[in-house]
Amino acid sequence: MKKALSLMTAAALVLSLAACGSTASSAASSEAASPEAASSDAASSEAASSEAASETETAELSTVEPGKLIMSTNAAFPPYEMTTDSGEFEGIDIETAQAIADKLGLELQIDDMDFDAALLAVQQGKADMVMAGVTVTDERQNVMDFTDSYATGIQSIIVKEDSDIASVDDLAGKKIGTQRGTTGYLYCSDDFGDENVVAYDNGLTAVQMLNNGQVDCVVIDNAPAKEFIAANPGLKLLDTAYVEESYAIGVGKGNTELKDAINTALEELKADGTLQAIVDKYITAE
Ligand code: GLN
Repeated sequence: MKKALSLMTAAALVLSLAACGSTASSAASSEAASPEAASSDAASSEAASSEAASETETAELSTVEPGKLIMSTNAAFPPYEMTTDSGEFEGIDIETAQAIADKLGLELQIDDMDFDAALLAVQQGKADMVMAGVTVTDERQNVMDFTDSYATGIQSIIVKEDSDIASVDDLAGKKIGTQRGTTGYLYCSDDFGDENVVAYDNGLTAVQMLNNGQVDCVVIDNAPAKEFIAANPGLKLLDTAYVEESYAIGVGKGNTELKDAINTALEELKADGTLQAIVDKYITAE
């Protein structure tokens, strides 16, 4: 954090020098006026020499709210994003987003909403990025840009233990529960007819409706599926993959600077093992 602020200080100094020697009125100089940022010239010049490339990157990044990286998500998608008993956000996406924000010198702000709203938030410029186990699809690529992939997902099928559904082929004519706006919903309505697919607010509700007998199965990403099954005796996951997918971070269409900056951060987090350590914390190897 301290390093990030000193990078900002360096940028602020450059900007305020450029502004005809006037220091009092620009936004850049008010950044520099914070006590931490004003710490020392030594920090600034150290930053300037050793991290010239990332300094440029950081200095040029403009976000929805200056100094913040706003992430829209749906924190009902364990183990990628969920809330603890005390209401804190946690999960693979949450910790990865925090590590990215740290690298970019930005403060992470998490905005929790329904999944379809989280996708819209970046399209409407209300969030800088959507991170919610978001699958890259052609349709979504028309309305937002995606970073490099950081994980894979598989659309899986949850049924009751005594179900006669044994594979994807058996889904024809069944009532299928999904989460609104997800690839699970889109694939199932394409393959089995809209009238056979029910879209719930979130995956947990879909699973509760399966428990109640309102639907015959739930189609959802495999990682949350495993968590839901562990918490709901009497349900099982079919040993059959419906669709395999890649997860990436969505940013506003054309926001190449942010996309590139996130990609650089992601690359570093992959290379130094941070990303794997985060995944291992939440998903135990089988
Ligand atoms: N991976 C799925 C999608 O992008 C589901 C994501 C989610 O429910 N959070 O549609």
